[in-house]
Amino acid sequence: MKVLMLFTLLQVSASAATPRNELEFAERYLKKYYDFDEDRISMLKSKVKRNVLEEKLQEMQQFFGLEATGQLDKPTLKIMHTPRCGVSDVQHRGAVPLRSIWSKHHLTYRIINYAPNMKREDVDYAFQKAFQVWSDVSLLRFRRIYEGEADIMILFAFGAHGDRNAFDGKGGVLAHAFYPGPGIQGDAHFDVAETWSKSSSQGTNLFLVAVHELGHSLGLHHSNNPNSVMYPSYGFLDPNTFRLSDDDISSIQSLYGAPVRSPPTMRPERRMPMICRQRPSFDAVTTVGDKIFFFKDWFFWWTRPGSLASNITSISSMWPSVPSGIQAAYEIESRNQLFLFKDDKYWLISNLAPEPSYPRSIYTLGLPTSVKRIDAATFDPSRQKVFFFADKQYWRYDVAQQAMDPTYPRLISTHFSGVGPKVSAVFYFKRYYYIFQGATQLEYDPQWHRVKKRMKSTSWFGC
Ligand SMILES: [Zn+2]
Ligand SMILES: [Zn+2]
Repeated sequence: MKVLMLFTLLQVSASAATPRNELEFAERYLKKYYDFDEDRISMLKSKVKRNVLEEKLQEMQQFFGLEATGQLDKPTLKIMHTPRCGVSDVQHRGAVPLRSIWSKHHLTYRIINYAPNMKREDVDYAFQKAFQVWSDVSLLRFRRIYEGEADIMILFAFGAHGDRNAFDGKGGVLAHAFYPGPGIQGDAHFDVAETWSKSSSQGTNLFLVAVHELGHSLGLHHSNNPNSVMYPSYGFLDPNTFRLSDDDISSIQSLYGAPVRSPPTMRPERRMPMICRQRPSFDAVTTVGDKIFFFKDWFFWWTRPGSLASNITSISSMWPSVPSGIQAAYEIESRNQLFLFKDDKYWLISNLAPEPSYPRSIYTLGLPTSVKRIDAATFDPSRQKVFFFADKQYWRYDVAQQAMDPTYPRLISTHFSGVGPKVSAVFYFKRYYYIFQGATQLEYDPQWHRVKKRMKSTSWFGC
């Protein structure tokens, strides 16, 4: 099978002169960083195999801004041989969670051991500065601890070191880190075989690699922008003139918010909360007690009405059993119940804790099987009804009867004057419905059946 694989690779390569060990090297590279699954494709026909490999090469070439030839050409091999970070450039299939973030802003770190060729104080200083790079532009704060388990454990290791990501000696992989979470998650490992240094002219600059790895520890993925510190290859940045790219700043601020008081060198628009510049289209919005939660992908922003402060938390850190990508949500405040919907399932959260016998099917609520997902939902306490919006229609559910009201579904645009045809999120607050359609929000008066105000989706954050 191996021989066949090499044969296939040879066919992929444009250059017949590419040595066999380079082909094996490229295969390993794509496997490690681009999810090229040799075992899976060995089940496929050789033509398909060739296509998969070509696709993976193109994916890699596109990421690095090379011509996407799908061939193992010289520029591609050159990039593959550049020292780099050991973290994958793509998100692994089926990896859960897709992206994690810390649910707190104050994090601890601990330096377990040191690089043999660097003075301890220089190592300490490199990490202190690297953490400062991230805390300068976000609400994150870091505290060093000297014993016990820190959120971010920093380790210098040689070869296999117990996490199934063995280091490869000098060159190649310089370091790797784990996305936020408990245990090994959040930790950063550095290959002892590298010549770590505090200078930019000799060896590998520890500070620059540390800024990059800590980016992963905080939840950032690789960037294909060569000016970004999250670019996977090493050697493109000068530590003396180093500053984060705008991309890096936006990424970290989208996860953890911008500093309350921006440094004077920053442009004024930076002071605006990140969410205002993004004007996201929310997946679901609901009140939760005295707060409002705004769901988007794998996290949610939350704020208290009138406070203007925004916070961000990942769904998985709040409720590990609830998936990312919540599509609709509503609260029955008098019962401390929160309902979350994704596709044809829903979860009940009571007093902020998930109930065990969930998820349940949305069809148990009386929705027809033609409905595959709910776009938006809200509970109206004055009527004791839940409104479910799906595509261009909506249903009304009677909470006391635990049944859908007859004569539904109805057309949204017919019965919600000025709204429609579709709704992306909705929540009830002080007698009004707040209806989201993309980046727009409508304040709807259900008593008089009319839209009272038209606002940005982010108005609750003072944007
Ligand atoms: Zn990396
Ligand atoms: Zn490791």
